[in-house]
Amino acid sequence: MIRRPPPDPQAVAAGERSALARAITLVESKRADDRKAARALIEALLPRTGRAVRVGITGVPGVGKSTMIDALGAHLIEQGMKVAVLAVDPSSRRTGGAILGDKTRMARLAVAPEAFVRPSPSSGTLGGVAAKTREAMLLCEAAGFDAILVETVGVGQSETAVADLTDTFLVLALPGAGDELQGIKKGVIELADIIAVNKADGPGAQRAAAAAAEYRAALRILVPHDALWTPPVLLVSGLAGQGLEELWAAVMAHRARLEGAGALARKRREQNTRWMWAMVEERLREKMLTSPAVRARLPDLEAAVAEGAVSPAAGADELAALLGL
Ligand code: GDP
Repeated sequence: MIRRPPPDPQAVAAGERSALARAITLVESKRADDRKAARALIEALLPRTGRAVRVGITGVPGVGKSTMIDALGAHLIEQGMKVAVLAVDPSSRRTGGAILGDKTRMARLAVAPEAFVRPSPSSGTLGGVAAKTREAMLLCEAAGFDAILVETVGVGQSETAVADLTDTFLVLALPGAGDELQGIKKGVIELADIIAVNKADGPGAQRAAAAAAEYRAALRILVPHDALWTPPVLLVSGLAGQGLEELWAAVMAHRARLEGAGALARKRREQNTRWMWAMVEERLREKMLTSPAVRARLPDLEAAVAEGAVSPAAGADELAALLGL
């Protein structure tokens, strides 16, 4: 197969969509030579990154993420912004569920020249998928996108990963008080910088207001008094386009608060270091799983550890030794 040369950093920086799309494909590639080229491309574009507003968006399937991202994205485009939508969903291929960041779920953004929508890399560990999304985010920033919306489903650990690559983390919640509120994981609320109760339209409006009151009460318990920021609880409707201005104003207010305290730069610095370690772990794991010596020994060793014939610690020692660690 004849391989195309890697995309030109100038073309990505000029905002050429095909160059950006190819650049993202390159960072998602598992081939060793592609990886090298991807690294060179990112390094070349790094000085142009960092200027976008990075927003993570989560919520259970059906909460209205894609409808909201489409509406919010269109609203931001009206304000003169360029909007990229990315996703972190390591499970999409396995479950065959809705593909996050899928253009067909975002009708307005799909046709807007000011928008760029890219689905989640579809295979790999959460750390690997999120690390690739992070690089895709940097490429979008270099290509001149002003807002990056990173979507993830509220399952597993993916919210933490997305909170760790964005500046502001938005949790979309469903109206429905009491029991449903209990269903929202405490951990997700603790990650939230903004909670928006969605579907606050039509007959749902009243229930949404009741749910918002419950979230506010829950936050009073969870957020320490001296916190830099108390997450606001908003009422929104992606479908009716309600509350979009307030929602974006909350994103900007959160950002201003962080910037004022020097916390945004600190947050990004800490994120950078954590991503370096995430990539080291990912690479070690991959090296481990592709090493012929490890692969040959693994089935027996796993069985022995499972049965208790070998302790997990001794098993780990043996695998590390096989890699020369
Ligand atoms: P996602 O799975 O979180 O991306 O949710 P979708 O955006 O696909 O929406 C799930 C369903 O909820 C669809 O049938 C939407 O039409 C509906 N929906 C989404 N947003 C709203 C909203 O603001 N109000 C109402 N009433 N329905 C909505």
